[in-house]
Amino acid sequence: MTPRIALLGNPNTGKSTLFNRLCGMRTKTANFPGSTVAHQVGRCITKTGQEFDLIDLPGIYSLLLELPESRLCSECLEGRIGDGRPDGALVVLDANNLTRNLQFAASALRRGLPTVIAINMADLAERRGLVIDEHAASEVLGVPVIATSARTGQGMDRLLDALTKTALQSRVPKPPQPYPATEPGSTTSALWAAETFSQIAAHPARTDSAEMTIHDRLDAAFTHPLLGILCFAFMMALLFASIYWLAQFPMDAVDSIFAWVGSAVAAAIPAGTLQDLLVNGIVGGVSATVVFLPQIVLLFFLLALLEDSGYLARAAFAVDRTMRRFGLPGQAFMPLLSSHACALPGIMATRLIPDQRDRLATIFIAPFMSCSARVPVYALLTGILFAGRPLAAGMAFTACYLLGALAGLATAALLRKTILRGPTAPMMLELPDYRLPSVPAAFKIAVDRGLIFLKNAGSVILAIAIVMWWLSAYPKSPSSAECASLEARAVEVQVADPEAAEALRAQASRIDEREQQAGSFAGQLGGLFEPAFAPIGLDRQLTVAVLTSFLAREVFTTTVFVLTGAGHDADGEDSGTLERVRTATRDGGLPLFTLPTSASLLVFFVLAMQCLPTLVVVARETGSWKWAVMQFVYMTAVAYGAAFLTYRLMT
Ligand code: GDP
Repeated sequence: MTPRIALLGNPNTGKSTLFNRLCGMRTKTANFPGSTVAHQVGRCITKTGQEFDLIDLPGIYSLLLELPESRLCSECLEGRIGDGRPDGALVVLDANNLTRNLQFAASALRRGLPTVIAINMADLAERRGLVIDEHAASEVLGVPVIATSARTGQGMDRLLDALTKTALQSRVPKPPQPYPATEPGSTTSALWAAETFSQIAAHPARTDSAEMTIHDRLDAAFTHPLLGILCFAFMMALLFASIYWLAQFPMDAVDSIFAWVGSAVAAAIPAGTLQDLLVNGIVGGVSATVVFLPQIVLLFFLLALLEDSGYLARAAFAVDRTMRRFGLPGQAFMPLLSSHACALPGIMATRLIPDQRDRLATIFIAPFMSCSARVPVYALLTGILFAGRPLAAGMAFTACYLLGALAGLATAALLRKTILRGPTAPMMLELPDYRLPSVPAAFKIAVDRGLIFLKNAGSVILAIAIVMWWLSAYPKSPSSAECASLEARAVEVQVADPEAAEALRAQASRIDEREQQAGSFAGQLGGLFEPAFAPIGLDRQLTVAVLTSFLAREVFTTTVFVLTGAGHDADGEDSGTLERVRTATRDGGLPLFTLPTSASLLVFFVLAMQCLPTLVVVARETGSWKWAVMQFVYMTAVAYGAAFLTYRLMT
């Protein structure tokens, strides 16, 4: 049988480029037996005619993480999938990120397979003045190390030679010092990597070319304690502004697709309970979440481009000092940034934080970051508070983001002084080279993240939509006398004035809808909880809307829309959905959204933990419901207190 060699490495180390260079066109896509995971296998032929198969595994940051790709790589190395243990491994490292990559190499070398290491992107490293001592590296690591450039072809022949000698003759690694046993990112592993780096690579003389100067100047600006943070704030403002602007178009498209599906279902199924459940419960409910997908995908796409360009590492460096002051590790930067799209992928990204206390603190504060589900509520309430003053409304919108982030940081500081006391683990941070970001790679990351979001949120949201529909549709109350008399008048005037009859019927159905709502389980719940929310300015209808938004925030505007359907003229289309919500009234006829109520609700939505899927994921990621419950109680208390203060100050 042809010997098999597993190709391993961090993402973006040039693995695919190297694979294509070594195997040329002799590649095929295969599935691991018994698994749906596809991977590439390429046939590699050396000058001496020796052949072997190269298995291209997914790029991963660590072999130890509980992620599907990491598990796949581990299982392949252990021979638990595929045709048994591979005969050797080729580990690809990025010369420009060597310390972090060395930690990965250590964990791969501990597997004891005959291994060859390629330090790739050597061309870039050389331009930056980094010299790699292959001989010293081979001595320290106990395996052959070759500096390569998959782009220029440098080192390919020697790499093939080394593979033939080591992997095919089963020479297992024998380092002078054992590889660290702990995970990449831990202090032991980081110290080992720093020490190893100093033994195998050096920056003897930095050339003072114009390129270096620009590079250095940019670095100095981006990593400056004050300027760096200002740059970061500016970049993020630009990022969010462009997301809200760009995402509108696909969001409208998603909206119309769901509207089309809704009407198609309505046309295919006779009116009745089943139609109502399918159209208003399932299609409507699921669309309320899926409509945010474009924002999430777009955010991850742009973040991936920024990361690939080399900028985000500098931003992480600039904010690291500030975050550290609040007891958060530098690795919390990306999860917290992602949480601005949605806390679910953000919390899952905390798996990359090695220290458990650091990770818990990050998970705990992630839902304070303003996720995209809050956006419709922010837009509605700032619009009411600053009607006719778009600039002020925009500033209030931004202030909501700031308030959330600050509340998160303060909470982290509190946690690290109390129940999560302990040192913050140091982060090994290297500045990769600036480069033109790869669009296909960013696209792939965005699609992957989108699918994860859909998979995790989808099932829970579907369940919520069905329960919500049931709570607000039952029990059915009989039509009131008022409705009946309106209907009767409509029949009377039908012949003389069909338009007036139509208007009367519409009014009757709105009144009926309102009465149904008040009598439904959801409505009764609103009446029951109203006293608890009255101190922050909510009436019965807003209480229901806030209660349901504890399941998922995005249902708030929808609930208000449905609940306040009554009491409006039939010209609903002209005044628009949002206008109808804005001008809705309470039972007594007062406006639903007074200024103090709007301000208090806005503060409540910034700070409250209103997302059942997040609680489920927190419980799963932390391994117990303890953290989820604590997070829920704490955030609700903070939100209620702050909303109460706001309401009192404004009335
Ligand atoms: P993978 O994610 O590890 O598979 O990385 P890719 O093979 O997709 O490479 C990522 C980027 O680095 C691409 O833009 C490549 O063209 C570039 N690249 C790969 N190897 C080298 C190299 O040796 N030198 C330089 N300068 N660029 C490289």
